[in-house]
Amino acid sequence: MKRDLDVTSAYDEFRSMVVRITRERVVPHAATIDREARPPLEAVAAFREAGLMGLPFPEALGGQDGDLMTQTIAVEEVSRGCASSGLTLMTGWAALDPLARFGSESLKAQILPSVASGEKIAGWCLTEPHGGSNVAGIKTRARLERGQWVIDGTKRFITNAGWAEWYLVLAKTDEKSMGIFMVHKDDPGIRFGKQEDKMGLRGSPTADVIFEDCRIPEDRVVGDAIGGYARMMVSLSISRPLIAAQALGIAQGALDEAVAYTKTRSPFGQPVSRYQLTRAMVADMAVKVEASRAVLYQAVQMIESDPEKARVFASMAKLLCSDTAMEVTTQAVQLHGGYGYLKDYPVERMMRDAKITQIYEGTNQIQRMIIAKHVYQD
Ligand SMILES: Cc1cc2nc3c(=O)[nH]c(=O)nc-3n(C[C@H](O)[C@H](O)[C@H](O)COP(=O)(O)OP(=O)(O)OC[C@H]3O[C@@H](n4cnc5c(N)ncnc54)[C@H](O)[C@@H]3O)c2cc1C
Repeated sequence: MKRDLDVTSAYDEFRSMVVRITRERVVPHAATIDREARPPLEAVAAFREAGLMGLPFPEALGGQDGDLMTQTIAVEEVSRGCASSGLTLMTGWAALDPLARFGSESLKAQILPSVASGEKIAGWCLTEPHGGSNVAGIKTRARLERGQWVIDGTKRFITNAGWAEWYLVLAKTDEKSMGIFMVHKDDPGIRFGKQEDKMGLRGSPTADVIFEDCRIPEDRVVGDAIGGYARMMVSLSISRPLIAAQALGIAQGALDEAVAYTKTRSPFGQPVSRYQLTRAMVADMAVKVEASRAVLYQAVQMIESDPEKARVFASMAKLLCSDTAMEVTTQAVQLHGGYGYLKDYPVERMMRDAKITQIYEGTNQIQRMIIAKHVYQD
């Protein structure tokens, strides 16, 4: 069977557009938002103008109907220049994916258009203080009381907390069931913790979202109040490849920087790019980046055709791309010598940003557990 190796050639024009936006409107602010620990407002303005904030959503609701490969390419290319901006782009998509798939028409019409246009920001709330790896063990509760859902619980490490208007919240509705709820930041009983002081992704806000007797209308449940866990698993098999794309972008960005730097640095009279040791390091970095890209794009193609069967491949792509990001950024710092340790060079930020990709959206230990379960079929 003939295989089309150049799986993304149909997306070349789109990729070029994102590369240009990233170069002109994202990269110039990447070091500043990292230093000031503030959201990437300049990048969001550029994404809004280009229609990227609503890329995956239906056109009828203000989106672009972009498939998963389009989203993957967008996150990869933005993250190549700035991982915080890449996360900002994808978080609203992930947060509203369950709503777009399973929500009622009226709830979609109420929320999606303003997020798709970029006028409003969204976040998603799964993780809790006692342990994010165990999504089935969440303690946040939602109960129906006189025509309103009442939510109690704390969600930890929530991207866009305090900045976003809309929050998707996973909560238990009884011992065995979960529901997904849409909460607005002006609803009574929602508040936010302090902004976390992070190692990396400092241009992306992270904080607790706390629900105390938080009351929302009954129709803000996504689908029904029973099958929320299964719906969230479907959305996670979409968002994991996007985290993989973020990691891949970071790795490619660090490789680009390392290649450029080693061509110009000449401590012994000729560029370090001429030494075999350097070339072997760069060759290994390039192989890891290309192998990660191949696995990610294949996973994306499989997810497009059968998300249920492809779930394990989403885990493989997330694991491989994030481990690659950590290794390649570490080597890129090494190839910069002492200068790689300074904030003056982007590889320092890239190495800090890479670490989280091995942790969030399911740690890499959790991905290995999922993959091993698939391999053993147990
Ligand atoms: C910057 C940032 C942004 C984030 N954004 C969001 C967000 O927007 N929304 C959201 O819901 N969450 C978000 N998270 C949370 C993130 O997804 C969790 O931190 C992650 O899932 C891990 O959960 P935890 O930190 O509680 O670690 P824990 O679950 O406490 O795990 C601790 C360690 O134990 C390991 N471990 C746990 N269980 C097992 C096991 N069974 N076998 C082997 N090892 C195990 C883990 O791999 C890890 O190494 C974010 C986190 C950060 C830091």
